[in-house]
Amino acid sequence: MGFSMISAQQLPTDGPLTIRPLLQQLGERLLKGKTGSVVAINPDNGEILCIATNTPNGSDVRQAIGKPQAPGSTFKTAQALTLLSEGIITTETTVECKEGITDGNIKVGCHKHRSPLALKDALAQSCNTWFLMTFASMINDDFMYETRDEAITIWRSYMQSMGLGGPMHIDIEGEQGGLLAGADYLNRRYKDGWDGKTIWWAGMGQGDVTCTPLQLCNLAVTIANRGWFYVPHIHKDTQNKRYLTKRQTKVQPEAYPPVVEGMRWAVDKGTATSIKTTYPICGKTGTVENLGADHSVFIGFAPMNEPKIAVCVYIEHGGFGADLAAPVAGLIIEEYLKGQLSETSEAKAKRIEGKKLN
Ligand SMILES: [Zn+2]
Repeated sequence: MGFSMISAQQLPTDGPLTIRPLLQQLGERLLKGKTGSVVAINPDNGEILCIATNTPNGSDVRQAIGKPQAPGSTFKTAQALTLLSEGIITTETTVECKEGITDGNIKVGCHKHRSPLALKDALAQSCNTWFLMTFASMINDDFMYETRDEAITIWRSYMQSMGLGGPMHIDIEGEQGGLLAGADYLNRRYKDGWDGKTIWWAGMGQGDVTCTPLQLCNLAVTIANRGWFYVPHIHKDTQNKRYLTKRQTKVQPEAYPPVVEGMRWAVDKGTATSIKTTYPICGKTGTVENLGADHSVFIGFAPMNEPKIAVCVYIEHGGFGADLAAPVAGLIIEEYLKGQLSETSEAKAKRIEGKKLN
């Protein structure tokens, strides 16, 4: 079904846009033969630099803004920020992981890594056990919260402050919000009751949470800026106050440095070393389980301490986040920061362009 019944939706044509044509062209080129999107935003002002999309029927901007999907492990960044802010974890909290965790009949896999890990390594290695256990411990914390409803309501308020959940009201038609498990939703969905373990999948960005690639790119913006963002927009020189008002997240300022460093480690020595380069990129890979082959996801920004660009790449059935989404993001970042691709990167772009998944 999908969008095939209605015609594809394209970008606005009224007035000058914030899009950088060369970046947009590169995004479109790298998405050839694939279904997905490449979104890039200038963290300084919320201007959308690139919003390339592709589907079996050609480009359709709703792929980036109107189709909430599981964020996978990219969501672990928002989890870490929330749990640090609430004092549920510290940067020293460690969790034991033996290639996953078994709880009753449920077995969750994780890849081989040394154990136990603390926060920054848990982000860099993307440890599932770490993020499932810590999220469940927040929701089940009877000292901090009177009820589970209260715990999930507070959790949700952090996520909403980072631009997740509802639509962001950008200036492109066709936007949809996403799912953020709330108390009403959970009480309806799990009639026999629920606790932290019921919904712990959300800790790794699966289950009762979905986001659009636009929202995930904005999440990267909030981290790049250590706690603020402008609502993303595509019309240059907009006078609309909505896009000129700085929004603060609810996250405690001191929660940002360790998460930024964990994302730096991911590129330097973790799951995203395929895009390690001479300038400091911070990133987080995601591999989203679904009915077909996994979706490949990446969010990131660069440079680490003077961020100029934030990126989200979401490629359906693209495999591991490190396989496809991360290299695409790396090329987009290089094109923007360097103004062109190196010879090696150009060869990499050619290989990615030739990869047909549709
Ligand atoms: Zn693990």
